[in-house]
Amino acid sequence: MSEPATTPEPRALNFIEDIIEADRVTEKHQGRVLTRFPPEPNGYLHIGHAKSICLNFGLGIRYGGATNLRFDDTNPTKEEQEYVDSIKADVEWLGFAWKAEFYASDYFQTLYDFAEHLIQIGKAYVCDLSEEQIREYRGNFFKPGQDSPYRNRDAAENLDLFRRMRAGEFPDGARVLRAKIDMQSGNMNLRDPLMYRIRRAHHHRTGDAWLIYPLYDYAHGVSDAIEGITHSICTLEFEDHRPLYDWFLAQDTEEKFFQRPLPRQIEFARLNLTYTVMSKRRLLLLVQEGHVQGWDDPRMSTISALRRRGFTPASLRNFAERVGVAKRDSLTDVALLEHAIREDLEKTAPRRMAVLRPLKVVITNMAEGETHWLELANHPDPVFGTRKVALTRELWIEAEDFMDVPAKKWFRLAPGAEVRLKGACLIRCEDVIKDTNGQVIELRCAWDPASLGGDAPDGRKVKGTLHWVSAAHAVEGEVRLYDRLFTAEDPMDVAEGGDWRDTLNPHSLDVLAEAKLEAGLAEAQPGERFQFERLGYFCTDQDTKPGAPVFNRTVALKDSWARAEGLGK
Ligand code: ATP
Ligand code: MG
Repeated sequence: MSEPATTPEPRALNFIEDIIEADRVTEKHQGRVLTRFPPEPNGYLHIGHAKSICLNFGLGIRYGGATNLRFDDTNPTKEEQEYVDSIKADVEWLGFAWKAEFYASDYFQTLYDFAEHLIQIGKAYVCDLSEEQIREYRGNFFKPGQDSPYRNRDAAENLDLFRRMRAGEFPDGARVLRAKIDMQSGNMNLRDPLMYRIRRAHHHRTGDAWLIYPLYDYAHGVSDAIEGITHSICTLEFEDHRPLYDWFLAQDTEEKFFQRPLPRQIEFARLNLTYTVMSKRRLLLLVQEGHVQGWDDPRMSTISALRRRGFTPASLRNFAERVGVAKRDSLTDVALLEHAIREDLEKTAPRRMAVLRPLKVVITNMAEGETHWLELANHPDPVFGTRKVALTRELWIEAEDFMDVPAKKWFRLAPGAEVRLKGACLIRCEDVIKDTNGQVIELRCAWDPASLGGDAPDGRKVKGTLHWVSAAHAVEGEVRLYDRLFTAEDPMDVAEGGDWRDTLNPHSLDVLAEAKLEAGLAEAQPGERFQFERLGYFCTDQDTKPGAPVFNRTVALKDSWARAEGLGK
């Protein structure tokens, strides 16, 4: 686990905290706060889940309570152990510890028993309509529902059929168990919703023990109530399901199944981010169709991708805190997420020099083999210490720091111009070597030895400062630059007939395989973070091999996207 999350700074309470505080005043739960994070293990968690994790675990911490991790594994066809493992790793990495690890499948027997109870009290029935007929009978907002012809089966017949459903006497889809509520309700969710269906599918935990599986709306609230959850926080689309949540729990008429008091469902607005899709189903498609290289491709919105890209747990927690808790859906600017990581790395990432698109500089008035060891600060904060960097006759600078025919206000290198090499000296460009195609391949420069350490003693003004690396000492590495994965602010908001994948950014990945890095970066360990002077924050990738480092750009120093026109950088 990374550094653990602690109680956040004091601030105005959000509406969920208002509810919890009010419950504490009335002693509804005897001061207890127990929340849960209930992912379905059908994919990797994304930044939206991070918001929900920070919210649920944050409330547990704030109120001296706790949070359960519950895998909502009622849909056997889509769930896998790989996803369970990744979810646990992500929650821990975010800095949270759960009180207990549960699975909705742990409750299959209780869910079954409670369903029999509902049948016995006349509140559930076995229906032989096909799922399509059930849809038709249900009507819609304008059209009243119609009772299923099986609605009035008596309890004994329902019990017999339900037991035989469980025993495997009927084929998949032949029958379902439905709650008997109100086919005329204005709330579609209350028009005799499905509770169980027959599905011969192997379950990642219960194997082949069951061939009927409970549906989400039934299983979810019941699982909360079995665990004694006090506040069950979910996203807004479940607001209309709340009457159903409460209805199921109210059927425990003899108080045999659930802890008291019953949990309360509270809805908040889900996180949506610009230039991002955020649904496990769509993220899975991006992986399956090869638009990205995997769930942890640093362009993805998954927690594992953000981790690989160099985001810190603290930056994600701060981001979640800043987004806040709202009752209305909105679109959060991804720039806020980028701001959160810049703010963190500004304080914590040591500075290094790296040249991404190298251009050779030869200092003609420096002898071959001459080496000046400079002591460069690792960070503006002196506690980070210093490192030794070699200045030699042959150097690499960034190709884009030279302009043969300089534009107005060009303060970087150009024929005859003088610039500062960061922390080293002043150089003046005296000659430009080109190949037969007219491509600049080398700059011949003269240095001012009196400027060693940075500036000339005569105080002459030199505006441009470039980063550089000694050619004799440089280590070669790969640097991966990322742009937004989508060109549309809201990829889901596509014109009719269009597809959200049409808005994929074809330039979202730029691999620079021949970057020249200062020598110390050869030993960078996967996950280590740096600021490369003038270029941004970078994190060593897991593809790094000894002597062949690979870096991901986490984020540029300033928002390059906003400045650039179109997709170029
Ligand atoms: P997805 O469609 O991405 O699979 P989901 O809501 O179906 O999302 P679950 O695994 O069921 O995913 O969600 C676990 C918890 O995370 C739920 O409480 C859910 O409300 C919450 N959650 C999911 N997406 C978001 C989001 N974008 N913002 C905030 N909370 C979210
Ligand atoms: Mg889901």
